[in-house]
Amino acid sequence: MTEHRAPGRVKEVTSLANPLVKDIKALALKKFRDQQNAFMAEGLKLVIDALDLGWSIKTLIFAKAGLGNPTIEKVAARTVAAGGTVLEVSEKVLTSITRRDNPQMVVGVFAQRYLPLKDIRPKDSDVWVALDRVRDPGNLGTVIRTVDAVGAKGVILVGETTDPFSLETVRATMGSIFAVPVAKATPEAFLAWRKHFPGIVAGTHLKGAVDYRSVDFKGKPVVLMMGNEQQGLPDTLAESCDRLLRIPQAGRADSLNLAVATGVMLYEIRRGALSLDARD
Ligand code: SAM
Repeated sequence: MTEHRAPGRVKEVTSLANPLVKDIKALALKKFRDQQNAFMAEGLKLVIDALDLGWSIKTLIFAKAGLGNPTIEKVAARTVAAGGTVLEVSEKVLTSITRRDNPQMVVGVFAQRYLPLKDIRPKDSDVWVALDRVRDPGNLGTVIRTVDAVGAKGVILVGETTDPFSLETVRATMGSIFAVPVAKATPEAFLAWRKHFPGIVAGTHLKGAVDYRSVDFKGKPVVLMMGNEQQGLPDTLAESCDRLLRIPQAGRADSLNLAVATGVMLYEIRRGALSLDARD
């Protein structure tokens, strides 16, 4: 034990059969993530960012090789101060937890956090992305990362979607999961919320009649509505949009990938707000 560690809160674990390790491994399944209200994020920088942004850490896991690393020791002390547990583990345990060869040296288990839909009250030029039944964790993670990059406000998951807190989604966000608020809603709850939304609800649709570059998005809040990967937007959601926009395509592809289409749209909507000189 070093002086940085609070006795009893730092445990050395080398066995895969350890119950704490079993609980963390169970986070691979949504059922257990929801039961424990927890999820896992890998990497020292990510864990520090998450703590700085006020996320609540339940467990910090680090490789034995990290012993004596002052940054890791500081994060361990922050974890203990926040009431979390610190596990110093063998590389075998870390590989098994992350299901990866050459795992990161540090993994954090955090409490999940959703923003209640009723707390989203868009104003000014706020941009929100609503995703209808998004299925693919890579797509969801990439959208969350892009929302962060363009300075949009957050993501609303509509209907049954893939889990924003799965390891695959979290990996694809590259840390943006901690910066981008995520709300979830049934289609009915979303439609009720949408009735009071003061700006433009811009749907994207392969049958959209309007070129996405012809709309003036400036100065009002926008909800960008994106359809499911296989089926696109259902009629109920499409009919609730103020506009149905299309991104022109050449070539043989039927459609763009969902995350790519979201990126194209977000850069158009946020065009006037972004410059190389300033991050707002
Ligand atoms: N087969 C689906 C369909 O018929 O809509 C394709 C869905 S596409 C892979 C996923 C979503 O990305 C669409 O619902 C739409 O929101 C958006 N999208 C993809 N390409 C688009 C385009 N060229 N114009 C507008 N939206 C597009």
